[in-house]
Amino acid sequence: MTNHLIDTLRARRGDSSRLFIETADGARLTYADAERRSAQYANAFVALGLKPGDRLVLQAEKSVEAVFAYLGAVRAGGVFLPLNTAYTPPEVEYFLGDAQAAIFVCDPASEAALAPIAAAQGCPRVLTLDAQGEGTLRDAADAAGTDFADVPRGPDDLAALLYTSGTTGRSKGAMLTHDNLASNALALVETWRFTPDDVLIHALPIFHTHGLFVAINVTLAAGSSMIFLPKFDPELVLKLMARASVLMGVPTFYVRLLKSPGLTPEAAARMRLFISGSAPLLAETHREWRARTNHAILERYGMTETGMNTSNPYEGERIAGTVGFPLPGVSLRVVAPESGEELGAGEIGMIEVKGPNVFSGYWRLPEKTAAEFHDGWFITGDLGLIGPDGYVQIVGRGKDLVISGGYNVYPKEIETEIDALPGVIESAVIGIAHPDFGEGVTAVVVARPDATLDEKSVIDALEGRLARYKCPKRVIFLDDLPRNTMGKVQKNLLREQYKGLYG
Ligand code: ATP
Ligand code: MG
Repeated sequence: MTNHLIDTLRARRGDSSRLFIETADGARLTYADAERRSAQYANAFVALGLKPGDRLVLQAEKSVEAVFAYLGAVRAGGVFLPLNTAYTPPEVEYFLGDAQAAIFVCDPASEAALAPIAAAQGCPRVLTLDAQGEGTLRDAADAAGTDFADVPRGPDDLAALLYTSGTTGRSKGAMLTHDNLASNALALVETWRFTPDDVLIHALPIFHTHGLFVAINVTLAAGSSMIFLPKFDPELVLKLMARASVLMGVPTFYVRLLKSPGLTPEAAARMRLFISGSAPLLAETHREWRARTNHAILERYGMTETGMNTSNPYEGERIAGTVGFPLPGVSLRVVAPESGEELGAGEIGMIEVKGPNVFSGYWRLPEKTAAEFHDGWFITGDLGLIGPDGYVQIVGRGKDLVISGGYNVYPKEIETEIDALPGVIESAVIGIAHPDFGEGVTAVVVARPDATLDEKSVIDALEGRLARYKCPKRVIFLDDLPRNTMGKVQKNLLREQYKGLYG
């Protein structure tokens, strides 16, 4: 047995002198560099006491060194656990306590605050890594040997413990095996036609499945290269499009790029593929992007627990407002939430998935794990339907479903109608406790600065287009919707803020 994930990611790689990463400040690292550097991290981790199956927690700014630390941890047989850099010390305390880490890596600036927390949570080793890739971890890696015999790990061994984004409640640790990650990387390389000639613009954070496993593992599995940016900067991304081939983004990337006059068919002419995910892409954004660049954004759907599940086709039509078809090896069905019975085309229900991408359970939450599986299928928590043509559509999260007067109201349907009104940029529909209806359908709307919309005009415009029970009872105007770092609208914050709206 060898190291399943690492071996899979290496399998198609050709010449190791080929470029793997180029940074914003011009550093160029080859695949041979990646082998050498990740070996040094693996050696350093083993010397620090990391044993196969131990968790290595890393809360550090995005850097190339952090990528090598990820690969080194997996090569050493460890379980990689990246944390959102925005998490505060009390939040980090929860993750360290929950995950029982053997090694914790943090930013040097937070070391004084976090080292005692790590010690109190039973983590014996704390090292540092900053945004420049400097710190005590880097020093340990620099001093370590450049050869490393990968620790054998099988397909079912854990490679990562990735916590969910916490959009609907407390983050849960998803146990991801070597084959969860390896199979998903291969399915995506095939679906998106990645080759060694591809150059990916990497502007996503690397503590989330999108920037870490989708972007980096796909690049590695295809032997492609990436231009690694510390953060998303629309003007820089526009400039880089002249010599890149793929962009992976959250919907807000595309919304922000559309604001730049520099976004033209010429600027996008060399690009092969624009991919969007992590949150719903507005159909309007899809249309505008096509009009401005001649490219149809390819939207895909995934989650921490499963990696990617579906994708719009590479060849064939990419339909706005859909997330396409299940990936090779992945099965997807829609069931009635109450009975669990499979529904027919066009019927809205709970999306369930099955396949080699599906995680092995929530860390230390066996009851929760059991509750989220149904006859071997993972209950995603997302509501959706399969269209007659096989394209999957997501209508929202089960937890965001509004039940008003006993009727189910799917927020996406109302949001789509509101977004189509002149003067509306975007909207979020939520349910707020209501004395008569159980929940009152409530719309939060972001209008264009020059729009002359008010509550009454929005409600009037929707009447006649939507059944009465679906029409918002109240409309609230905001300058922006609250979003987390992955561009997800935080409906829980909106529900909390307006909870007293109906008395
Ligand atoms: P938590 O589970 O802790 O509440 P989360 O579900 O937001 O957080 P992630 O695993 O990062 O954490 O996000 C997965 C979710 O993101 C999916 O279940 C789905 O609701 C949403 N999502 C991802 N891609 C898309 C997409 N293309 N369209 C609509 N929703 C998407
Ligand atoms: Mg989730």
